[in-house]
Amino acid sequence: MEKRKTALVTGGSRGIGKEIALHLAQKGMNIVFSYISNDEAAQKTVQEIEEKGVKALAVKADVGSFEESEKLINQTVEEMGSIDVLVNNAGIIRDNLILRMKEEEFDEVIRINLKGVFNCIKHASKIMMKQKSGKIINISSIIGLMGNIGQINYAAAKAGIFGITKSAAKELALRGITVNAIAPGFIETEMTSTLSDKHKEAILKAIPLGRIGNSKEVASLVGFLSSEEASYITGQIICVDGGMAMA
Ligand code: NAD
Repeated sequence: MEKRKTALVTGGSRGIGKEIALHLAQKGMNIVFSYISNDEAAQKTVQEIEEKGVKALAVKADVGSFEESEKLINQTVEEMGSIDVLVNNAGIIRDNLILRMKEEEFDEVIRINLKGVFNCIKHASKIMMKQKSGKIINISSIIGLMGNIGQINYAAAKAGIFGITKSAAKELALRGITVNAIAPGFIETEMTSTLSDKHKEAILKAIPLGRIGNSKEVASLVGFLSSEEASYITGQIICVDGGMAMA
């Protein structure tokens, strides 16, 4: 029997990350996911993943920390034996208009949403290079392509992920590793639940498909990009946005 693959999903205890973890588990992968708070929610997610007949492990780790992300990757390999898929999903928002934005609001978003992606790629690629295989999928956002009022920090980080994706794709290609980015549009999660009805209405008008997306629609693309069916795809940015960012 072929050995089970292992996927590490950062920020996997809720939202899009949780849906990705469940989707990859459904495809037969063992799952490690990181989270930052709420041990109870993390353990509930572990149970839901295990119900799919695979192994699951939740690790409390801040991806913005170089040391913690190294420990996260090492623990993944120690417990599961490999790291075949890395999904850099962890992310935060600290929205504010430029004049009101505090230095720490800018720095924290860059630290977690951008440096966190570098940290995990750096540590995971060392292992993937030895394996001569690996799939890295970075969850960016259409805000990285389009910009947005009140999100100068978030847009900078998410645009930075495109540069990371293309650079890593070029550097790691001959080592058997593909690197791609997904840019979701507006997806119904706790992150977007705080939007006012007025704001939601305005967003809906800008979405050609006329509705907000759901996490499953992002997870299914992760499933494809992490499979052998996507073996000739690397360095790409793929929007899952109902057409919102189309040129
Ligand atoms: P969410 O807030 O529901 O989940 C974010 C996850 O990241 C949580 O599990 C949280 O614990 C984790 N996290 C936060 N800081 C962390 C840190 N320092 N270290 C490790 N984990 C950390 O958000 P979501 O809506 O599920 O978003 C997931 C990803 O998708 C994010 O990168 C987000 O920017 C991106 N995205 C979301 C939308 C959307 O509409 N929801 C749109 C575009 C992109």
